[in-house]
Amino acid sequence: MDQNRFLGKTVIVTGAGSGLGAAVFKRFLLEGANVVGLDLSAEPMERFRERNSVLSAQMTLKVADVSDPDAIAAVINESVEELGTLDVLVNNAGIAPTGPAATTSNELWRTVMKVNVDGLFYATRAALPHLIRSQGNIVNTASVSGIGADYSYAAYDASKGAVINFTRSVAVDYAQRGVRCNAVAPGPVLTPLLQKNLDTTAGLKEAFGRSIPLGRIAVPEEIAPAFTFLASADASYINGHILTADGGVTAWNGQPN
Ligand code: NAD
Repeated sequence: MDQNRFLGKTVIVTGAGSGLGAAVFKRFLLEGANVVGLDLSAEPMERFRERNSVLSAQMTLKVADVSDPDAIAAVINESVEELGTLDVLVNNAGIAPTGPAATTSNELWRTVMKVNVDGLFYATRAALPHLIRSQGNIVNTASVSGIGADYSYAAYDASKGAVINFTRSVAVDYAQRGVRCNAVAPGPVLTPLLQKNLDTTAGLKEAFGRSIPLGRIAVPEEIAPAFTFLASADASYINGHILTADGGVTAWNGQPN
């Protein structure tokens, strides 16, 4: 790991209080960045700061709901005022309620789209003027669920498909203004979001093991380096790319072994 890779750079990570976002937050800190962690509540991020006091000077904690366009724009602008620049935006906040199409309520559909798609758009729109100034870039959290579908995740699958093509849209529109945009598409990652399902469905962990060529669910720390790579100068010619970090899930055609 290069501890100076992001020295002097400012990064915003949404959904930094838990799971994958917390691991991405930490990885950027360890690679030298000043990182704004943003989430619905400050408490988990405060606890993280207490546990990682050596990195404390590089951390700024903000509370906002990404699905509130005014709130997210205000927090992004405020962060730039405080830290002087914005070099990387990581759109990671997301939710994943279950249900197939026929039994998905209007309310559930809108809730998922509000966070996973509207929130992605609002944060991106607010960050772009700053990123154009800094010649920075965006890394979005997509999912293998946006490449192939899960059983019984209609709204989530649709939202992650939108994340993938929005990534490409921004990549195409802003390349000439010096801003790259890429996404990481993780497979199953052991975070509170997935743990809930493992706790309530007997045999699910073993079933995941059988459906992932690497034979196990990832831990968040295995996925976070894909984000710092895409955000770094090492990826200077990578734009509009969806980087799967899925243990081979999307390489497998689904035929039984
Ligand atoms: P998580 O529930 O552990 O963490 C999500 C974080 O986002 C939480 O801290 C939550 O408070 C925050 N958040 C939710 N709604 C928000 C909002 N409106 N505004 C601001 N913050 C909000 O989940 P996770 O598994 O770490 O998921 C993070 C991302 O990774 C999501 O986009 C998810 O779709 C994606 N992902 C997860 C997996 C997996 O298996 N866990 C796989 C592929 C993709």
